[in-house]
Amino acid sequence: MSRTAGNPSKPNPQPSDAKPANQPSKLIGVHLSTTGGVANAVRRAPTLGANTLQIFSSSPRMWRASKITAEQAESTRAARAELSVGPLVIHTSYLVNLCSQSQEICEKSVQAFRGEIERALALGAEYLVVHPGSYRGMTRPQGLRLAAQSIERAIAGLPWQQTPFHILIENTAGSEHSLGGSFEQVAELIEHLRPHAPVAACLDTCHTHVSGYDIVSDAGWAETLAQVERTIGCENVRVWHCNDAKAARGSKLDRHEHIGEGKIGLEPFRRLLHESAFAHAAFIAETPVDAPGDEERNVLALKNLLG
Ligand SMILES: [Zn+2]
Ligand SMILES: [Zn+2]
Repeated sequence: MSRTAGNPSKPNPQPSDAKPANQPSKLIGVHLSTTGGVANAVRRAPTLGANTLQIFSSSPRMWRASKITAEQAESTRAARAELSVGPLVIHTSYLVNLCSQSQEICEKSVQAFRGEIERALALGAEYLVVHPGSYRGMTRPQGLRLAAQSIERAIAGLPWQQTPFHILIENTAGSEHSLGGSFEQVAELIEHLRPHAPVAACLDTCHTHVSGYDIVSDAGWAETLAQVERTIGCENVRVWHCNDAKAARGSKLDRHEHIGEGKIGLEPFRRLLHESAFAHAAFIAETPVDAPGDEERNVLALKNLLG
């Protein structure tokens, strides 16, 4: 989006942009359980101080998934419209591995991912986050090609064209054989897919940190930000998963921690939330739920950094 250039010292009044000065316009949310239905999760978000949310649209540890009924779709859309909650982000099941060397697993994954896309479209979800997968038994370029082919096959013929729907490729913790442990790999997959599918990126603060990028020191952040811009492009990062990390930078251990209580600490989240290159993005916590109220606590921890 571009604006007509004018006198920079005297911006034109833009009524549609007008917001009360101290009302935060950031999109901040948390991963929520869909117990009681997706509409229920949408209705719960604002009670926790969130204006966006992430869900699983089926059990993340089962291949079988039921279809979204017309009634479920309608109640979800109605709840979102009533409460101005969005974007709605869906995280793909953990079983899906779109570059598995096992033909059987890969085929099951393509079918399951197609189901994920169908449910996302039925619910009117903007984003479907997916980890690119594990290419164990193959070379990385083979894995990358297979992941791209699998996603292409999964979305073929589905009616996404007139919708805001995007598949978001998430960066991973960088463990051996896992695709997406660097911004370059995420960017490469996006480039492969762009002619065939609506695709963008989701970056996870914990994964970014444990895969080796410095998001903690000022100089490190400047360099990491420049690397995102050079590879994926900041405008393509639609969602930031905001998770502190239990493990050290470069450890490749994916263990999420409450915001401000891990190796990343509070200040890098403040800097991220204020980064103008990501002003368009949604910031969603996937922090542990160790005790009742933890979702709300982490949303609040992020919102407290906005002022
Ligand atoms: Zn994540
Ligand atoms: Zn993770």
